[in-house]
Amino acid sequence: MDKKEIITRCIEDKKDLFIDISNKIWGYAELGFLEFKSSEAICSVLEKEGFEVKKGLAGIETAFVGSFGSGYPVIAVLGEYDALSGLSQKGASHIKKEERKGGNGHGCGHNLLGAGSLAAAVAVKEYINEKEIKGTIRYYGCPGEENGAGKTFMTREGCFKDVDIALCWHPGDVTCVWGIGTLANLSSYFRFTGTAAHAAAAPHLGRSALDSVELMNVGVNYLREHIIPEARIHYAITDPGGSAPNVVQNQAEVYYYIRAPKVYQAQEIYERICNVAKGAALMTGTEYEAVFSQGLSDYIPNKTVGEVLYKNLIEAGAPDFDKNERELAGRFRETLKQPDIKNAMNQVRLLEGSTAAEKMETKVLYDFIGSFGHQKGTIPGSTDIGDVSYVVPTAQIIVTCSSFGTALHTWQFTAQASSIIGHRGMLTAGKAMGMAAVDILLNPEIVVAAKKELKEKTHGEYICPIPDNVMPETAKAGS
Ligand SMILES: [Zn+2]
Repeated sequence: MDKKEIITRCIEDKKDLFIDISNKIWGYAELGFLEFKSSEAICSVLEKEGFEVKKGLAGIETAFVGSFGSGYPVIAVLGEYDALSGLSQKGASHIKKEERKGGNGHGCGHNLLGAGSLAAAVAVKEYINEKEIKGTIRYYGCPGEENGAGKTFMTREGCFKDVDIALCWHPGDVTCVWGIGTLANLSSYFRFTGTAAHAAAAPHLGRSALDSVELMNVGVNYLREHIIPEARIHYAITDPGGSAPNVVQNQAEVYYYIRAPKVYQAQEIYERICNVAKGAALMTGTEYEAVFSQGLSDYIPNKTVGEVLYKNLIEAGAPDFDKNERELAGRFRETLKQPDIKNAMNQVRLLEGSTAAEKMETKVLYDFIGSFGHQKGTIPGSTDIGDVSYVVPTAQIIVTCSSFGTALHTWQFTAQASSIIGHRGMLTAGKAMGMAAVDILLNPEIVVAAKKELKEKTHGEYICPIPDNVMPETAKAGS
């Protein structure tokens, strides 16, 4: 039996298991670094399948690796399983309804991501067993992607140092190879401490920390004009210092994201923002402290590995959605607004060019495979796969798991991540990645070419954007 037959047969035979794991993780909906039940669900399958599982990687309880086979090359399939806060939604329902009041939800489809990557790893194991070939397949359980930078911490601690190739995927509303970079991202808290006072009786005795936050934000908004246009800065006031207007706030905190195409550019802007904070503290007579939270490197898509994924995605075929899946997608489409569709069209133009965009004028599901090789530039988001991509040649695919125009981090995506549409996409992703991994195991010259490409792009340099003394914190928002 050939590669396609073995991988497809294995995933089809065990599809109920993978769907069950995906649905379980969807139901647990655990936030970053708290994915105890989700990681356990995946580990137990890996153990049953004969993988050697090591838990607690990089000092993170929910990070793990399952390994099968021996020797070179070592192929890693990356899995995620963290949810987002505040996105609880009834599964597969096209009517907006919270499943648990104020609960979490899988609005980024990481339940599908984790289980789809698991399907790929298990199928590759089957191939290694059946064909008795040399080589290692590893499943990396990567927690805390949403604002957690789990893979960055894992990269910093050397978890991927002997990996030859890394493969991943992400659920989306299109099917293609992710051939475009992302922005580096540094995040930091700015904490101000002042002096409390009665705001009417003795304001002259008060030093307002909230004033410092406001002045800092004004300063940063002026700074925007004088930084590179590709950069992005955003903030949230995480502590306004209380809710009483008649008290001068003696503490306040603002949380910043600073994004730029390269880490060093984000670092330069970060330094300038620290100076703005210092200025705000001087103006108000308060003290300030910058508390670095986390960092993500930009993503470097490896073209050599991307081509292997593209070839195998074509061989596996785009998700073949049936009548029920198409009808359900149609119902979700009706919940979307015109700007959602327009935005999705723009994304397709950026990723795939105008031919694909034209096709989508009349379709509800992106049921074909976008072209590959022409993409340039970056998309203005960030991912912790960026750090992996600096130390291991890395490529990813996106596979349709939702009605076209459904944005990530929405209730509609949460719902579809537990639906037959999501499951169909997940199984396709598992097959394409599994087949690509087999190609690499059988043709180690791909590893040589991919590593050469990576070295040309990075000159062999990687500096982790998270300082050694900064440890992971539980998730609050999304990346
Ligand atoms: Zn995601």
